[in-house]
Amino acid sequence: MKYISTRGRMEPVGFQDAVMTGLAPDGGLLLPEHLPDVADKLQDWAELSYTELAFEVMSLFATDIPPADLAELVTDSYAAFDHPEVAPCVEVGDFQILELFHGPTLAFKDVALQFLGNLFSYILEHRGGRLNILGATSGDTGSAAIHGVRGKPNINIFIMHPAGRTSPLQEKQMTSVLDANVFNLAVAGTFDDCQHIMKTTFGDVDFKAEHSLGSVNSVNWARVLAQTVYFFYSAFRTMEKTGAESVQFSVPTGNFGDILAGYLAQRMGLPISKLILATNENDILSRFFNSGVYGMTNVVPTLSPSMDIQVASNFERYLYYKVGQDAEKLTALMSGFTQTGDLCIELDEHSVVDELFVAGRGDTEATMATIRKYHEQYGYVLDPHTAVGVYVAEQHRSDIAPTICLATAHPAKFTQAIVDAIGEEVHHPTLDALADAETRCDSIANDIDAVKAYLVEKI
Ligand SMILES: *Cc1c(COP(=O)(O)O)cnc(C)c1O
Repeated sequence: MKYISTRGRMEPVGFQDAVMTGLAPDGGLLLPEHLPDVADKLQDWAELSYTELAFEVMSLFATDIPPADLAELVTDSYAAFDHPEVAPCVEVGDFQILELFHGPTLAFKDVALQFLGNLFSYILEHRGGRLNILGATSGDTGSAAIHGVRGKPNINIFIMHPAGRTSPLQEKQMTSVLDANVFNLAVAGTFDDCQHIMKTTFGDVDFKAEHSLGSVNSVNWARVLAQTVYFFYSAFRTMEKTGAESVQFSVPTGNFGDILAGYLAQRMGLPISKLILATNENDILSRFFNSGVYGMTNVVPTLSPSMDIQVASNFERYLYYKVGQDAEKLTALMSGFTQTGDLCIELDEHSVVDELFVAGRGDTEATMATIRKYHEQYGYVLDPHTAVGVYVAEQHRSDIAPTICLATAHPAKFTQAIVDAIGEEVHHPTLDALADAETRCDSIANDIDAVKAYLVEKI
């Protein structure tokens, strides 16, 4: 399987190169040259365990990794999960809740980043070389990335966070990782300052090459690939349980990574009748699917911070399919967007953007009310991100297809919102253990040269 750029100006590359490249040199995102049709495999796949299924799905895409090696990579990646099913479905009211928070940092990003960490380490081991990952985080992604590569040979990870501005719990999830290859930097500034330092440092191409800098951002193809697996797995479990012949998914969305994986699974032949896209007040994506206009606005902070985005970094991949895999058309749309801050798609004969999608938003009030309602009626506590998805799913029930709601984080990660909603705390042993954990973190000035000097010294 070869990988191409959505902007069409890159020679096709193999899977390992696609993983190491991240963003394409022409500014586009990588996609497989064609998507395999798996319709005739579904019946066999429905019998498999999560890890077996992950191997089958990934082996269609990672064709330059020997099967025995890929099997080991997959097994190692999901051994760190605390549930035997890795991603179990729990029936709550009318919905199947797909719990994606059984990994080490209790958020769905572990599903992809545990795999990506092992994959980086495998590729470096075979090709030689080192990788120094630099990232900026406001909370969630940083800790999943750190846990994905901690202790791995040939990799260092440097994660900047704004000093005193991440939640104490999320800060501890990062700084309590004491492995020698993990460097936490508390920058005297805001999250935007951290991002600015990161982007400027990556923009210095000589520095980047000399020090083998890389990133683990959400556009990496391996992350999307790892996420397609649980769409298949949960659809099989749900169809088996209910006898239905198709399912619909509700996905709380920020960067369009998670829901893109569902879209690809559908294109590969999984019977998904609807993808319900749910956003919080930062609703650029739900506005797009309801109007055809993708227009940038300012970010407002919400109870679901991992969905507080201005533009969705994975959206370009969807758009590429939407314009009929026409790289020229896509490039024109994206450069128009860069210039004007919006882009516009023609609606079809039924005045919709895409028959497969419905979209809606859940604001702070809806999030709180939904958390409260599911706790009162079913004794199940939703985290604020999941609650947004469940709220929007309630408006799009189907009599034919059962709805699977993706639960993207454990509620104990968002203590304050939960206490405000239900009046009591939710605990998780992993987080409780952090209270007395030893931590390591370096403070640094809000200054690009200071960060570069730090990197050089530690590398
Ligand atoms: C990252 C994240 C999301 C959003 O996922 P995208 O792939 O960016 O759409 C939702 N919930 C939680 C808890 C997250 O960490």
